[in-house]
Amino acid sequence: MSARTGLAGRPPIVHLPHALRPRAAAWLGCHGIPDRCLAIGAWRSPICARCVGLLAGYPAAIVALFLFGPPAFGRAAAGALLLVPAAIDGGRQMLSGYRSTTARRFVTGALAGFGQLELLGGLTAALLGALAAG
Ligand SMILES: [Zn+2]
Repeated sequence: MSARTGLAGRPPIVHLPHALRPRAAAWLGCHGIPDRCLAIGAWRSPICARCVGLLAGYPAAIVALFLFGPPAFGRAAAGALLLVPAAIDGGRQMLSGYRSTTARRFVTGALAGFGQLELLGGLTAALLGALAAG
């Protein structure tokens, strides 16, 4: 196994030509490094655990939208704060020898996915409110 291959012997998709990357990973811009992907038995997700978490956080934010309405400033600010754990976890991995875990990647990704939509929803609601008032 070379230094460019992961635990499954498959190179990270960032080393593959764009046309050979799994479609989901290429579309999301995910690195697809195999040892950072969810694995259940022999099956391995085509995108990393953090991206799976992001995608899991989006429907939760949509449910919150229907339950609680468009996010106001407080919820949008809280959404921005939910991005911080993923930024710290991913940033530490990128900048140091720190190795996160699959569970930590998934959880920080889910928080970030929820936070992204809360932040964008809050900004959109504020913008639409300002346009309607003006
Ligand atoms: Zn990813």
